[in-house]
Amino acid sequence: MLLQEATVATLERLGKQLAIHADDGRVLCLHLGMSGQVQLVDPGDPVKPHTHCTWSLREGRRRLEMRFVDPRRFGGLWTFASRDRLLGDRWSQLGPDALDLDPGLLARQLEGRARGLKATLLDQAIVAGLGNIYVDEILFRARLHPRQPAGTVKRDEVERIADATLGILGQAIQQGGSTVRSWLDSEGQVGEFARSHKVYGRSGDMCVDCGQPLRDDLVAQRQTVWCPNCQRLKRRKR
Ligand SMILES: [Zn+2]
Repeated sequence: MLLQEATVATLERLGKQLAIHADDGRVLCLHLGMSGQVQLVDPGDPVKPHTHCTWSLREGRRRLEMRFVDPRRFGGLWTFASRDRLLGDRWSQLGPDALDLDPGLLARQLEGRARGLKATLLDQAIVAGLGNIYVDEILFRARLHPRQPAGTVKRDEVERIADATLGILGQAIQQGGSTVRSWLDSEGQVGEFARSHKVYGRSGDMCVDCGQPLRDDLVAQRQTVWCPNCQRLKRRKR
């Protein structure tokens, strides 16, 4: 069952998945997908539409409800008997977390890969935690083309990607995340990071660095925006 009668011991996150560990070893794994939220609210608070699951929590005399809300249903809930089961199952399919990247680790993850950087960085088995908006912003900051084959990236470029990843994610976390229409944080605030987007959602606008118009195209089946002047495709052998 979904941690009935359990005492919550610790929380853990890998990429876009959250694990709630009970002190008896059981684990509840939540994937927020594109629009999922975990709310911690008073039991009397009105229940939002698309609330799929509710837990009653007690901390001392205080009572709270944890609610899993997911309008677009790309998320989900899974339970495991132990952390080892989680690591051997769902989390075995995930690469290192984006916030743990350093240039050496990232270089190993990109090595020999023929796919473009956009597709590679979106692949949760290579790096866990990066979504469409963040990859566009990271590649703009690193000045690399979304279609540059990942295996052709040179060492200084890998360092730029790793730096840009920590910089962009750090900024986004500080500003409360991005905004994709319905996205709200646990306190119901719209994320501020949307105002800092330099390329995402700005196709046709001027590049903030060089003034040329940004362009967009479908890359890795996702709408992708980049600056054709600052992010040039380099013809290289792998
Ligand atoms: Zn530019």
